[in-house]
Amino acid sequence: MDAVRRAAVVCRAVQAKLVDASTLEKRDKSPVTVADFASQAVVCATLQRHLGAVAIVGEEDAQELRRDENRSLRAEVVAQVRSVIGGAEPSETEVLDWLDLGNAEARGGRYWTLDPIDGTKGFLRGEQYAVALALIEDGEVVFGLLGCPNLDRSGAPGALFVAAPELGARMLDLWDASDHSGRAIHVASITDPAAARFCESVESGHSDQDESAEIARRLGITSEPYRIDSQCKYACVARDDASIYLRLPTRKDYREKIWDHAAGKLVVECAGGRVTDVDGRKLDFTRGHTLADNRGIIATCGSIHDRVLEAVAAVRVD
Ligand code: AMP
Ligand code: MG
Repeated sequence: MDAVRRAAVVCRAVQAKLVDASTLEKRDKSPVTVADFASQAVVCATLQRHLGAVAIVGEEDAQELRRDENRSLRAEVVAQVRSVIGGAEPSETEVLDWLDLGNAEARGGRYWTLDPIDGTKGFLRGEQYAVALALIEDGEVVFGLLGCPNLDRSGAPGALFVAAPELGARMLDLWDASDHSGRAIHVASITDPAAARFCESVESGHSDQDESAEIARRLGITSEPYRIDSQCKYACVARDDASIYLRLPTRKDYREKIWDHAAGKLVVECAGGRVTDVDGRKLDFTRGHTLADNRGIIATCGSIHDRVLEAVAAVRVD
């Protein structure tokens, strides 16, 4: 929780500058790069400080940052990391080494997986994104955390979701480190799919929105889709802002990344919901960096899962 909270503080600071300082058209990709790198370095450093040697499979690495022509970007990343890491001020080398701690192989045993900023496009739009961290043991996700800086919690932005089988799913204050337990969250208890609201990506390139509209129609759903970036979608199903999350493949060759789903999947399951791929298969976290044997994602409040899968099968053409 400490790792995700510190990373969220960095992301919030960078996003605030981005939204204030420039129009969407003028922005280049560098601000998001600073936040991605800094977030990963902060999470890796914090995990190492608390837990010692850990294997971390993160989305980023320091290769580009080490190049001489990227020294100004590197300096900015180091400054951001220093702003939230306590203790002695880390050197540039230390910061780069922390980033590279996230280069472990996703093979067997026990490892963490990290998306330092999930929902980059939402981050750039000044909207929703998440810091997503999960612990995987022998192919099972056993601990999941989602830091959602812009997601509302009791009337103010900033929610931290924590899930483990023995703990259930809980929502805490992202900004208040003294909030250790927050409150339990639960999925919707509906039994009629027509009463469901579904969520999906804002980005039509990440999920087929024509197909989802057709599936919703079949299920008798009349409410509009709730479009929201990142693994915030899983959090929304877990706390009953929506009852279905549809992620329908737009390309035959795309394979979902483990860091895009591990934490979110556990949050939904521990809140009482179900998560499979579009064919109803269990997500297989034993295949390295991707969910190589799965296609897309269907997450629901559970009770309506089979009905949703039937509708998906009836509409989807492969
Ligand atoms: P979302 O915010 O739900 O739209 O998802 C953001 C994530 O979508 C990113 O972290 C990417 O890893 C992932 N992504 C990129 N391309 C695709 C694609 N073609 N299909 C599905 N997901 C993708
Ligand atoms: Mg991502």
